[in-house]
Amino acid sequence: MSPDAPAPAKKSPADIKGIVFNIQRFSIQDGPGIRTTVFLKGCPLHCAWCSNPESQNFRPEVVHRDSLCTKCGLCAGVCPENAITVKDKGVSIDRKACTNCGDCVSVCLPGALKVLGQTMSAGEVFRETKKDADFFWNSGGGVTVSGGEPLAQPDFVAALFRLCVDYGIDTCIETSGFASAEALEKVLPQTSLVLYDVKLGDRECHRKWTGVSNEEILKNLERVIASGVAVTIRVPLIPGINDVEQELEKIARIAADAQIKPVKVELLPYHRFGIGKYQQLDREYLLPELTTQKAPEILRIKELFESFGLACEIVL
Ligand code: SF4
Ligand code: SF4
Repeated sequence: MSPDAPAPAKKSPADIKGIVFNIQRFSIQDGPGIRTTVFLKGCPLHCAWCSNPESQNFRPEVVHRDSLCTKCGLCAGVCPENAITVKDKGVSIDRKACTNCGDCVSVCLPGALKVLGQTMSAGEVFRETKKDADFFWNSGGGVTVSGGEPLAQPDFVAALFRLCVDYGIDTCIETSGFASAEALEKVLPQTSLVLYDVKLGDRECHRKWTGVSNEEILKNLERVIASGVAVTIRVPLIPGINDVEQELEKIARIAADAQIKPVKVELLPYHRFGIGKYQQLDREYLLPELTTQKAPEILRIKELFESFGLACEIVL
């Protein structure tokens, strides 16, 4: 660039783009009060029990809801990659061949096919979320960014939160903690609460069940705590994987050793709500045998955490 050339215009935060797959209004489980939860697409972890498998891939994806499918075959006819097979129960998509062009979606009259994930600017998402600002202010709620992994799109989240904070809207992220220190540095200054997942205490078990070690995650937990932003530790309870005594004690020890007072832990009992989504994505759910914990078992786990001096709540 010559010295006389005008400097390139700086991008406004409202123009920064992210990939969003859902904006859920009136959410009451993703932080305090009534909230709008923005679900981002893309996660560096692949937890075997993930209830949002559509959030894992960073790219938009076509999903098929076979209960709506009339088996007309129009989608298979227009697919330039021959990726669709019409079967007795509906369709299946060869994910290696599919380019997510969306041609099949546009010919599916009953709406059995849908592209999940769209590029939106921080300004567009903010305009959507601020519609419920009165509910946020009256309930102590706000905007939560979940995923996927919010810290995998740090510029977008920081920009969205900047707009929220300037408007007086509370901000929260729900994170696996698997992110770079730079991503944290971008997002934390605009964040008032971090819901921080601690899934497993054992490093190798963590790698086995989520695809990554928990080493960086635990370092980032310390970084978040040191930043002074409020933290709630969240533990998804997965039958036979982390709801066994030895693992629970490791997780409780991590929470108890965290230098935040009072330490709050939220327990999320296992549920099977997301299993149907695997079939919509032509994927296999790897833990079909798991069943939800019974109430006495959940209360026993709560007592175990409380025995470590932790304030513990069950989130259903
Ligand atoms: S176009 Fe839609 S309704 Fe027809 S076979 Fe394909 S998915 Fe089913
Ligand atoms: S999105 Fe495009 S490539 Fe993928 S199944 Fe549909 S038509 Fe075929």
